[in-house]
Amino acid sequence: MSDKIKTDVVIIGAGPVGLFAVFELGLHGLSAHVIDILGKAGGQCAELYPDKPIYDIPALPVVSGQALTDNLLQQIEPFAPTFHFNHMVETLERVQDGWQLTTDGGAVFESKIVVIAAGGGSFQPKKPSIDGIENYEGRGVAYAVRNINQYDGKNILLAGGGDSALDWTLNLAERAAKIGLVHRRREFRGAPASVKKLEEMIESGRVQFYLGNPIKLLGEDKLSGVVIENDGVEQTVMVDNFLPFYGLSMKLGPLANWGLTLGTGEKVAADKNLILVDTEAFRTNLPGVFAIGDINYYPGKLKLILSGFHEAALMAIAAKKLLSPDERVAMQYTTSSTKLQRLLKVI
Ligand code: FAD
Repeated sequence: MSDKIKTDVVIIGAGPVGLFAVFELGLHGLSAHVIDILGKAGGQCAELYPDKPIYDIPALPVVSGQALTDNLLQQIEPFAPTFHFNHMVETLERVQDGWQLTTDGGAVFESKIVVIAAGGGSFQPKKPSIDGIENYEGRGVAYAVRNINQYDGKNILLAGGGDSALDWTLNLAERAAKIGLVHRRREFRGAPASVKKLEEMIESGRVQFYLGNPIKLLGEDKLSGVVIENDGVEQTVMVDNFLPFYGLSMKLGPLANWGLTLGTGEKVAADKNLILVDTEAFRTNLPGVFAIGDINYYPGKLKLILSGFHEAALMAIAAKKLLSPDERVAMQYTTSSTKLQRLLKVI
């Protein structure tokens, strides 16, 4: 993607709070572009606890992390947000008419309003501790599959024993010339159906299994092999692609460099990684930039989904006022919002 996308609102983060912000902004006639580093919506709910029951979403006695995400996606459908998954927002710079954002995937946005709903920060891959692995990133080593077609006919080694490693081994097995999986144990932690399918593929020889840990990468300009160690014995596997899936950790990431005032740190050490906002509209110190959900801090802040939903409602009114200073902007009851009802085709 290279053309600049000009829009009124960009939301950074497609977690539950970023998703609900689409709804609240939509009620005021604002449509949003939503960017997330992950390949799907739902933030922590979908990534960290999709099957766990949540009991404190008002009027939903029990809902799983994934079901909450699915419900939110259904709820915001009428407002037709544009999602940009697999993009991490790297920079936020002031331009004449608002803010310019660039992502690691090469997308550029210019937006009057920016809503940071980045939760605990960006999910980033945990990397194997192999000396010099960063030199091979983009030259055979990757921690996510961004373009599946690039693996057609390739010789691939994956690493890990969880759902991501298993799912990608199974998916890529249909395309790769040769495919292997290295894991430190002979058991896997994936969904039972995936484990069963993988075992069948190992049995049939379609997937080569290696017990041990990858300890060294080979190759001059690009990756040509991986050395695996098990019980002091080393073996070299010649591959052109190495995809370790060791899980994700949450890091504040690039937004630490955007000139935002970060939390007080007076009482809770973690506040230092949170964006300080007012409680009237959850504005940051940067004009037109709001922060809602787990990423913000104010006295009395609770890191709960319902708090983020409340923050989204107040932010949306303030965002609308900024964009339409001459209009009377009022709270919208959905029961009487003709705009919403038209979108829902109930009137
Ligand atoms: P997140 O869910 O963290 O989503 C933020 C998104 O922003 C992520 O997808 C991230 O990839 C993306 N992002 C960050 N930086 C960037 C960037 N630079 N570029 C692009 N994308 C970016 N809360 C409750 O209310 N009830 C519960 O019962 C409950 N149980 C929980 C159980 C567990 C195990 C955990 C871990 C949390 C629980 N929580 C619960 C907390 C709840 O999940 C969070 O409050 C909620 O997810 C916050 O939503 P959010 O949208 O602010 O952030």
